[in-house]
Amino acid sequence: MNIPEDNIRLEELDKRYIWHPFTQMKDWLDEKPIIINEGKGCFLKDIYGRWYLDGVSSIWVNVFGHKKKEIDNAIRRQLGKIAHSTLLGLSNVPAIRLAEKLVRLVQKSLQKSEVRNQKSNHPSFPFTFASANPPECGKGGMGGLHKVFYSDNGSTAVEVALKMAFQYWKYRGVKGRNTFISLSNAYHGDTIGAVSVGGVGMFHDAFEPLLFKTYRAPSPYCYRCELGRKYPDCSIACLEKMESILKAHAHKIAALIIEPLMQAAGGMIASPPGYLKGARDLCNKYNVLMIADEVATGFGKTGKMFACEHEEVIPDLLCLSKGITGGYMPLAATLTTDEVYSAFLGGFREMKTFFHGHSYTGNPLACAAALACLDLFEKERVLEGLTGKIALLDAWLKDVLNLRHVGDVRNVGFMAGVELVRNKRTKEPYGWEEKTGWRVAYHARDVGVIIRPLGNVVVIMPPLSISEKNLEQLLKVVKQSVISVTEGKK
Ligand code: PMP
Repeated sequence: MNIPEDNIRLEELDKRYIWHPFTQMKDWLDEKPIIINEGKGCFLKDIYGRWYLDGVSSIWVNVFGHKKKEIDNAIRRQLGKIAHSTLLGLSNVPAIRLAEKLVRLVQKSLQKSEVRNQKSNHPSFPFTFASANPPECGKGGMGGLHKVFYSDNGSTAVEVALKMAFQYWKYRGVKGRNTFISLSNAYHGDTIGAVSVGGVGMFHDAFEPLLFKTYRAPSPYCYRCELGRKYPDCSIACLEKMESILKAHAHKIAALIIEPLMQAAGGMIASPPGYLKGARDLCNKYNVLMIADEVATGFGKTGKMFACEHEEVIPDLLCLSKGITGGYMPLAATLTTDEVYSAFLGGFREMKTFFHGHSYTGNPLACAAALACLDLFEKERVLEGLTGKIALLDAWLKDVLNLRHVGDVRNVGFMAGVELVRNKRTKEPYGWEEKTGWRVAYHARDVGVIIRPLGNVVVIMPPLSISEKNLEQLLKVVKQSVISVTEGKK
C-alpha cells in the first residue's frame, strides 16, 4: 500500500504529544495506533481509509451513529447564534429548553412508578429516622426530579450529586452525615470524589490515601458472589448486608450511590431482579438519599430510557451524561428533587449557595445537540426499535455461553459483557497481565470491529441505531475472536 507521508507523521505526532487515557503508554508506543478521521452511521474510518464497526459506541456515548444529520444541523444552527456563554450569572436558550425537556422526560419515564409508589407498600413518609431529631427530609424522590444542574461529563455529574447530597443534610440542620454508602465494583468516574465512591481495585486503589472513606456494600455480582451465596436461594443476601450497614451507620451516611441494574466499568455486572428496588426501599427505611448514576445506563442503553424504570425506582439525585448528546458533545446533568433544591435556598448571608460550576457548564452547542438527540428518540421511536436487536443479542449470549472459556454472560438490554475464564468449572480467571480481553479486541480489530474490554470481560455496546445486519456482523466477529484467542482456533 502506498502510505501517505502525512499519516506516518500523524502517528509520530500522536506518540510524541498525546498521553492517552487508561492506556499503558509504553505499550501504545510499540503499537501502530488507529487514528480516526471520519465516521458514518455505526462505522469509523481511519486515516488510511479503513472502516471499522464501532462496537462500543465510542465509549458508550453514541446513540444514533456518527454524522447524524439532525444533530449535525442542530449544532450548526446553534453555531449560527452562539457557541458558548456561561451559566454563572447568565442563562442561555438551549440550556433552558433542555432542562425543561429533561425534567419532562424523567417524569414521563419514571412518573408511572411515582404514582404507583405512592400507593404501594413503600414505607410511608415520615420514615423511621435513624438519627436523633431528624428534619423533614427525604421523600425518596417521589416528589419528582424537577431541578437540573449541568456539568460536562459523567464524573462531574457524580461530584455534583455527592456534594449536593452532603450539603443537603447540612443545610437541613442534620449533623454528621459525612459519608456515603457505595458498592464494591462500582465505577463513578475519575475525579477524586468519584474515585472515593468507586470500588474497582485496579483503577482506584492507587489513590487510597487521597480518598474519603465510605461504607462499602457488596457488589451484586452473582457469578462471583462476595458472600459465597447463590442466586436466587440467597434471597439477595447482599441487600441484607447493605441493610446491616445502614442499620448501624445511617446517621453518618448522606446517600447511597449506585449504578442502577448494571455496574458497567466494574465488568458489566448485572444486578439480580429486585436488587435496585430493594436498595431504594432501604434508603427510604433508613432515610438516606439515593443517587442513581445513570451515566452509562441512561438514554436507552438498557432498553428503557433510564435503568431505574425497570424496577420503578425514583432516585433523589440522578446523574446523566454520555448518551445525552447522542455521543456528540461533552455534557452532563444532575437532576434532583425540590426537597434537595429547597434546602439550599436562603438569604445571601446564610451562605447556602451551591458553590460549584464549571466553565463550560450548560454549553449551548452541547445543549442543542442534546435537544436534537431527545427529539430523535421520539421521532425514530428508538426504544421500540430495540426489541428485536435485544432479542438477537440475548440469543447470541446464550450461544456463546457454551464456549469453552466463557464463564458468564450478562446483559441488560443493549449493554452486554462476556466474561472469559481460564477454567469454566472452577471459574479461575485469566491473569490480568495476559491481556486476554485485549487479545480478543485486537483480533476483532484486525477484521474491522472496534471493541474495548474490561479486563477479562468483552464488552458489547454498539450505538442503539445499529442495523440488525451490522449487529449480526459484530456478534459474529466477536464470537470468532473469542474462539480464536481462547481456543486457538481460526
Ligand atoms: N459513571 C458511570 C456509571 C460511568 O460508566 C462513567 C464512565 N464510564 C462515569 C460515571 C464517568 O463518566 P466520564 O468518563 O464522562 O467522566
